[in-house]
Amino acid sequence: MSESNDRGAAKSILILGGTGEARALAGALFARGLDVTTALAGRTQSPRLPEGRVRIGGFGGAEGLAAFLAAEKFEWLVDATHPFAAQISANAVAAAEIAGIPLLRLTRPGWTQPPGAAWLPVADMAAAATALPHGARVLLTIGRQEVSAFFSRSDCTFIARVIDAPDTVPEGWKIITARGPFTRDEELALLRDEGITHLVSKNAGGDQTRAKIDAAHALGLPVVMVERPALPEAETVATIEAALAWLERH
Ligand code: NAP
Repeated sequence: MSESNDRGAAKSILILGGTGEARALAGALFARGLDVTTALAGRTQSPRLPEGRVRIGGFGGAEGLAAFLAAEKFEWLVDATHPFAAQISANAVAAAEIAGIPLLRLTRPGWTQPPGAAWLPVADMAAAATALPHGARVLLTIGRQEVSAFFSRSDCTFIARVIDAPDTVPEGWKIITARGPFTRDEELALLRDEGITHLVSKNAGGDQTRAKIDAAHALGLPVVMVERPALPEAETVATIEAALAWLERH
């Protein structure tokens, strides 16, 4: 764990971050003169840091997060993590309850299938790996943590685009390290240049990574779309404005 910025006495809002929305919310709260801290898991080697205080590293489960909230006297918790970061979102619900503070979840809506698009919706990475036909040339855009779900598909060719390279991949895999957003033209060029037949994506939602979906649709390519994990219930908003309004109400 590491921390940056000076830590003063009053700490009000803890944002669980790791997304563009979390960064934007931290910036908006910081601009309003509020005391905001963003927690990052520390998975990315050089994360884009938000304004305000930043804390990097896990808390040690829901109890650890609850203890941190109490020790640092946070008054609000905002879970603005990625829709696929299910563990930390569950921890947030439990920790806010233990610490007795309000929790807001800020999460962008998922993408919906454009008319005529060839989507194969699946529940998880294992199902995504199974859904690929023999001989597919696959662009994997699922991050680096779950690429191993596809290792057994030696009958397919994989090009994985990631921010940081996975520790290990089978021989023959191509790794492209790049950080979005990417334009539709860039995505069209990548899909064409690599001769991609299938795109595998998480249903992350939002505009930052949407261009690949539109590009695949434009080329008539099937998208194996991994749907979002179920999360425990929490008060939820979809936009920074709605999150600011919620914080004002409290
Ligand atoms: P996860 O499986 O839900 O969380 C695993 C553990 O990582 C948590 O139990 C917690 O450890 C720690 N953790 C996760 N997010 C944290 C945060 N914001 N601050 C401090 N600790 C955190 O999460 P994940 O899928 O590995 O994602 C990790 C981070 O990357 C998230 O913050 C997420 O917003 C971001 N991200 C994830 C994805 C994705 O597809 N999963 C995509 C883009 C960005 P302790 O139990 O020790 O507290």
